Amino acid sequence: MPEHPKILINRQEIDRAVERLASEIKRDYRRKNPLLIGILKGSFVFMSDLVRRLDIPLEIDFVRLSSYGSGTESSGRIRMPGKMSEPVEGRHVIVVEDIIDTGLTTAWFLRYIKRRKPASVALCALTEKPARRKVDVKIDYLGLTVPDKFIVGYGIDYNERYRNLPDICYIE
Ligand code: 5GP
Repeated sequence: MPEHPKILINRQEIDRAVERLASEIKRDYRRKNPLLIGILKGSFVFMSDLVRRLDIPLEIDFVRLSSYGSGTESSGRIRMPGKMSEPVEGRHVIVVEDIIDTGLTTAWFLRYIKRRKPASVALCALTEKPARRKVDVKIDYLGLTVPDKFIVGYGIDYNERYRNLPDICYIE
């Protein structure tokens, strides 16, 4: 059993980062009616805070991605159980991620989206762990850089626990 999570980034700092991301996205997408696609489950809290600050026309979808294998590290072999409900062809897509770690999951999904002929694709990530990157993914809108620790809270889990913590925490 891991120890009690400790705060790494508190809710005020998260708020400031989300506010900044929203103003960058508003500046770039005001007349584009973007389709924001959140990667479940970890992006659900971030997505809901982000879109409430985006007072521009937009649409939302979610997809579930999981990587084969076990443990806390992505194997790079990705599965997408279920489908997206919104077509992406011709749309300005913004992929919304909770955390970019090795980058394997996001790189896979960006390739999947690009094959479906969107008008454009951008990546918005709440956090990234640059120390662990295995593939190059360009993050167009980045919230916060985090150290190489196991993050939980603000939507992000450990064995489905801790998603409801309001701060970004870490466990050892
Ligand atoms: P990647 O494919 O970039 O290695 O991994 C992306 C996914 O791995 C994230 O969406 C998240 O589900 C999981 N992940 C990576 N780092 C962490 C972490 O520090 N904490 C938790 N809870 N999940 C993580």
